[in-house]
Amino acid sequence: MTAHGEIALHGLLSVDDHELVAAASSAVTVRRVNKDDFSAEGSDLRGVVEQSSSIDALLRGAYEGDVSFAELSRHGDFGLGTVQHLDGEMLCVDGEFLQIRSDGSVHGIAPEMLTPFAVMCHFEPKASYTLDGPLTWEDLQQQFETISDRRLVQAFRIDAVLEWVCLRSVPRQYPPYPPLSAVTKNQTNWKAEQVVGSIIGFRFPTTLQGLEVPGIHLHFISEDRTVGGHVTDLLLRSGELQVQQLSELHVEVPEGVHVAAADDSDETAEAIRRVEGHHN
Ligand SMILES: [Zn+2]
Repeated sequence: MTAHGEIALHGLLSVDDHELVAAASSAVTVRRVNKDDFSAEGSDLRGVVEQSSSIDALLRGAYEGDVSFAELSRHGDFGLGTVQHLDGEMLCVDGEFLQIRSDGSVHGIAPEMLTPFAVMCHFEPKASYTLDGPLTWEDLQQQFETISDRRLVQAFRIDAVLEWVCLRSVPRQYPPYPPLSAVTKNQTNWKAEQVVGSIIGFRFPTTLQGLEVPGIHLHFISEDRTVGGHVTDLLLRSGELQVQQLSELHVEVPEGVHVAAADDSDETAEAIRRVEGHHN
């Protein structure tokens, strides 16, 4: 355990606010940013992932955030997460924020709305690949493995034609908030066939477990903005994959939310797999 207001990575290092730290086993630098700085400074930093709160906090039911989408938009034009009270899945594509509720409906997001968990970056892909399908979820994962450095954070965008995609979203929560594992038992799953749209996502190294969802995390929105959600499975016919590698992570943690050490325990890995996992 670390003291309040500290982030420890892998239990090896702990830092105070504003100090830079590199995890011994990770190529990603993590910095904690306080709310005032996060709100004040728009980020022009490239190669940096900006994040509000942590997956660990979300797992424990911290569904009330302190960052507005107006503030979030200053930290990038690309990202994913959720909205206040865990009211569905969120993604940001070309600077447009969209919410997908548990009934599958898609909504624009007002600038004043808040979020308890979001990951953002300025998307500047350095590489792009043409995908010739059919590609399964496993094929796509292999593709990601071969083109990316496992130690870094990757931002992915695939503009795709999909044979089908399995999606899910979560229902809005009311206090007292249950842990995420209880919520995802009531998640809604659906399947969309023959859809065209954008898949937005990140791949985080396992060294950042606790702060982030380790592995690949993808959200989808159709071109006509009628279908979307958190991707649990897919069959891709064709697509254009763009990739950006990022080596720095800034984490804004709401007042009163304790950030535990990046936690690589098997129990946490299992808890995250259960709530964020694919093929569930
Ligand atoms: Zn998600």
